[in-house]
Amino acid sequence: MSGDPLVEVRDLEMHFPLTRGVVLQRQYGAVRAVDGVSFSVGRGETFGLVGESGCGKSTTGRLIMRLLEPTGGQVLFEGEDITHSGRRELAPLRRDAQMVFQDPYSSLNPRKTVGSIIAEPFIIHGLASSADERRREVRDLMDRVGLNPEHYNRYPHQFSGGQRQRIGVARAIALKPKLLVADEPVSALDVSIQAQIINLLQDLQSELGLTLIFIAHDLSVVRHMCDRIAVMYLGKIVELTASEICFTEPRHPYTGALLASVPIPDPSISSVGRRPVLKGDVPSPSAPPAGCRFHTRCPKAQALCSQQEPPLAEQVNGSMVACHFPLDQAEATALLPK
Ligand code: SF4
Repeated sequence: MSGDPLVEVRDLEMHFPLTRGVVLQRQYGAVRAVDGVSFSVGRGETFGLVGESGCGKSTTGRLIMRLLEPTGGQVLFEGEDITHSGRRELAPLRRDAQMVFQDPYSSLNPRKTVGSIIAEPFIIHGLASSADERRREVRDLMDRVGLNPEHYNRYPHQFSGGQRQRIGVARAIALKPKLLVADEPVSALDVSIQAQIINLLQDLQSELGLTLIFIAHDLSVVRHMCDRIAVMYLGKIVELTASEICFTEPRHPYTGALLASVPIPDPSISSVGRRPVLKGDVPSPSAPPAGCRFHTRCPKAQALCSQQEPPLAEQVNGSMVACHFPLDQAEATALLPK
């Protein structure tokens, strides 16, 4: 990554309190959804945040968008600390950073026409002077994302899942944002439609010079689109690496296990000899295991792993990895499709 980052998070934390009692609401613990996460995203970069459900990736996205206020650490946007900014100070961010959500249907108001849904950002930010101009802008946006502008007056239920996601994308790019946070934008869609939405996001990124944070639970989804990938486990980043290195030389056993569990679509490629994929469930983020949080599921775990938390440290291949006993090349290769 070169130049000033567009987004930076430093030691970011989001601990949701667990309370007991209807009146006194005494706190007895906390869900440590995000627990000390640091990374930067460069302008024009596509940055992947990947991990199983409950690893904190979506919460991290919402913290960057300041839809949540962090309980610790910092969020910087264009070098400005927005961690605890109020509503008025966040106004520029609300224009410059937009989000695409996983479920396009629930994020669209079913009682509004598609035209008025896509026009919302112009109205909220007072950016289109007349109704005619607004209608023109919206039709252009519909065309740009592959929707028929003639369907301006239709309602969300009259569109397919993929088309509804295109509506969400059109609304998100309406104000020409600098940053797009896409939170599992394709996981609710059929595989055949997923590629279309990914291609659309890639095209828009290069046309508009967008910076994209792409959140996914499946490494295969981010493979061809991300410059760098951060793999999260139980609220922490366990591996942060260039995309091509992630898929050829994973160093963290968890990244290796995620790669080993990626289905092989080509029947001519053998899965023989690949190591077993992840076993067991992710422990509760309200009581994460001591030491390395992955030690309860890690095939390489040793005594030290349950005693000492491994720091995120640079490996010879340039990856940042949090592991006392990272995979060597032979172990990594055994996990990859032959
Ligand atoms: Fe596995 Fe130990 Fe590395 Fe954690 S520190 S990933 S338990 S080998």
